[in-house]
Amino acid sequence: MVIILKKVQVQLHTGGFMKDRPRTRDTKQRRVVYDTIKSTHSHPTADWIFEKVRRQLPKVSLGTVYRNLGVLKEEGLVREIYGNDRRAHFDADISKHAHFICSGCDQIIDVRDVKSIDWRTMKDLVGCEVEEQTVVFSGRCPGCRQDTKQA
Ligand SMILES: [Zn+2]
Ligand SMILES: [Zn+2]
Repeated sequence: MVIILKKVQVQLHTGGFMKDRPRTRDTKQRRVVYDTIKSTHSHPTADWIFEKVRRQLPKVSLGTVYRNLGVLKEEGLVREIYGNDRRAHFDADISKHAHFICSGCDQIIDVRDVKSIDWRTMKDLVGCEVEEQTVVFSGRCPGCRQDTKQA
């Protein structure tokens, strides 16, 4: 009885190990990608994330980073914002917040406590089901306003 149990355990272990191996590597890469985005509030691009991830996982490719970004996005762990530079920027802060995009330096700044508008009263939205409301402000950040004053 004991022998049989042991055998079953060994088989399960080996089977699991073989099957889980690529997934384990995947999960590790995804974790590093996720932690990298989480470590900053600067809403980085995939290139920036790739450079940081590469310091920890030297063999990682840009394609792998993109793939993991896609999965993280699908899982709802990161948000994607399109900046003034027309590139995708990533945000691991998925709490409700809006963004201010500076037209001078392209930086993306988090804006808290923005009241969402009541779309139910909007006549052009009749029949449409709103799933998400995104608020993006644009203008000049304090640094860029300072530059304009000095110039
Ligand atoms: Zn600026
Ligand atoms: Zn943000």
